[in-house]
Amino acid sequence: MIPFHYTRAVDARSAVETVAGRPGAAFLSGGTNLVDHMKLGLATPDLLVDVSRLPLDTVEIAEDGRVHIGATVRNSDAAAHPLIRERYPALSSALLSGASGQIRNLATVGGNLLQRTRCVYFQDLTTPCNKRSPGAGCAAIGGYTRDHAILGTSTQCIATHPSDMAVALAAFDAELVVLGVDGERRVGLNQLYRSPGTSPHRDTILEHGELITGVELPEIAVARHSTYRKVRDRASYAFALVSVAAALAIEDGLITEARVALGGVAHRPWRAHTLEGALRGRPASEETYRRAAVAELTEAHVRPGNAFKIPLVTNTLVAVLRQLAKERL
Ligand code: SF4
Repeated sequence: MIPFHYTRAVDARSAVETVAGRPGAAFLSGGTNLVDHMKLGLATPDLLVDVSRLPLDTVEIAEDGRVHIGATVRNSDAAAHPLIRERYPALSSALLSGASGQIRNLATVGGNLLQRTRCVYFQDLTTPCNKRSPGAGCAAIGGYTRDHAILGTSTQCIATHPSDMAVALAAFDAELVVLGVDGERRVGLNQLYRSPGTSPHRDTILEHGELITGVELPEIAVARHSTYRKVRDRASYAFALVSVAAALAIEDGLITEARVALGGVAHRPWRAHTLEGALRGRPASEETYRRAAVAELTEAHVRPGNAFKIPLVTNTLVAVLRQLAKERL
């Protein structure tokens, strides 16, 4: 066992100052990913600053209609909260599709966002991995790629982001409240995650010592009619091969608004802007959905082990959009 120190944070600011001032320090929240990585020898913090009991555990509505979810709200509590269920059903559904009941009771919203890829090579210290050891190579390229990305990949890394929750947050343009030593800033969920490029060891744009204290969701009428569908190898406790968070508004048979994000296909939750543009103003028909899906996947780069994701994404998108349209017409 590698020894480490542990301290419980008394407030967010002192937690940030402690971690920012010590390169080997890390925040600990639910610990459902970090502790696993410590057991594997993948993460070796010399100090854990426990932020899980900070008073950031409420879901509230602001005067402007935005919903604020505190970073230490447990995944199960966020999924069950009436504001989330009524205003963002896709988010509630995404949360409930993640992990297991026991893990959802422990995992926090902030920690969920910062969980790391489940690429099997990343977690296997005997194989080369640029994300774990920059410059080491990528065992997945030319190896097992069933769970790997088809969009936004690089020659250095083809890992996928594992969060379900983040896919729904991407569809709804969530913003993160981030506290650093220089104060608070806001980061769009769709700006948080990096593409792998030549430095896949960095998952996000956050600096060492910056702490996510909350997530804010704008009031979006169409989000009340949203859904999340996850395709995986077994019915529970499995990561997405492909997932879709979507919301659709239709007037007089024409699509007036669409919000769609994909999971299991990229290094980040993949906001499907091309698909959304190809849906707006078009008839709510199967032909429209299929054409839009094909347009979104034009830039996809598949490997022999994950070429199945092209028809899987296409068919899942069509099925989800057909379901939403049926409910709205
Ligand atoms: Fe590592 Fe990324 Fe390659 Fe997986 S895909 S082995 S995480 S570099």
